[in-house]
Amino acid sequence: MPAKELVRPCMDCKDAEAILDTRKRHYCGECFKAFASHKVLMRMSKYKQMKKTIGQAPKLLLPLSLGVSSSVLLHILNGDIERQLAKTFVNIGYELNMIVVDPSTILTPDTKHDQVYEAVTKAFSKLTFTRLPLHSVFEYVPDMKEIIQEYAGPRYIDDESRSDEYRLTAFRAAISTATSKADLDSVLLTRLVAGYAKSLGCETVIWGDSDTRLAAKTLAGVAKGRGASLTWSVSDGMTPWGVAFDFPLRDLSKPELEQFKGVCKELSDIVIPDEPVSDNVLTKNLSIDELMMRYVRTQGEKYRGVMANVSRTANKLESTTGSDDALCPLCGGHVGNVKGNSGVTVANQSSDNYSSKFCYGCMRSRPEATC
Ligand SMILES: [Zn+2]
Ligand SMILES: [Zn+2]
Repeated sequence: MPAKELVRPCMDCKDAEAILDTRKRHYCGECFKAFASHKVLMRMSKYKQMKKTIGQAPKLLLPLSLGVSSSVLLHILNGDIERQLAKTFVNIGYELNMIVVDPSTILTPDTKHDQVYEAVTKAFSKLTFTRLPLHSVFEYVPDMKEIIQEYAGPRYIDDESRSDEYRLTAFRAAISTATSKADLDSVLLTRLVAGYAKSLGCETVIWGDSDTRLAAKTLAGVAKGRGASLTWSVSDGMTPWGVAFDFPLRDLSKPELEQFKGVCKELSDIVIPDEPVSDNVLTKNLSIDELMMRYVRTQGEKYRGVMANVSRTANKLESTTGSDDALCPLCGGHVGNVKGNSGVTVANQSSDNYSSKFCYGCMRSRPEATC
């Protein structure tokens, strides 16, 4: 049969028109999906190995924001599971659970989220999804109420007779800047996800962070004085809470995940698109996390290698402090491992002593912190 007349054939199958480019190669939609899936499944292959060692499939928890990155990860893993189920000898390397933290418990209610959540649970009907509000952090991290009371200081009055939802809202309302709010929300979200993973008996949480996002998190972490917890917030490994964190999308950039979504019709209706980047928003109203994500997204397209290097370097970080060092009860970061950046330094400025056990990063976000 004569070869098809192709204007620009896909470099992999050479049998279809190439429709997108990445890393100096051009692909048809199917080959691009295969390329991206392969990157992820290579990272997931360690769980098959683990299954052999421990004698059962390790339990994994995937926190799903319903945005592009975590949805692509879910799609790829679901495809892997379906392929296995179709075989005579089924060998799925892991047991997958999903958690969605209801954003209406953090931001203003969004009906789009409810619809998308319903559509996702229908589209992946063989998988298990749980949706929790952010204030269920009090349920899954039992000492969190005391930690927050102590952390927030004497000016924050906690009313124990009120609901968890009310108490979290009151705590968040006491925090003044966008950066501190976003910073503490992400600390609480991480604690909720880790606490929920523990309650399910999961070995590992697999996060849907692209290498672009990991680079942004690395730079923002340093800017916010949270360099000490970078070891597990951007690199694969054990957290202080007895559950490991893993980042299987770390070999793919955010634009590549957007390209994946673009050629994957199953994802077209079940992903909440990113808010468009508006130039009209005043920079001072953005949190450091948002600023860094913008920076990495705009510069990352020009300097892809540099951004990939940031997250790759961060993945090689190892904690230099011993396991006996005090950990911050709120975020789990080391308290005094950076000379001059310990919680004590900040506590001295605010004339109270109790706060010295929290890390520098958390102290900066404290309600009415003056530093
Ligand atoms: Zn192809
Ligand atoms: Zn902390």
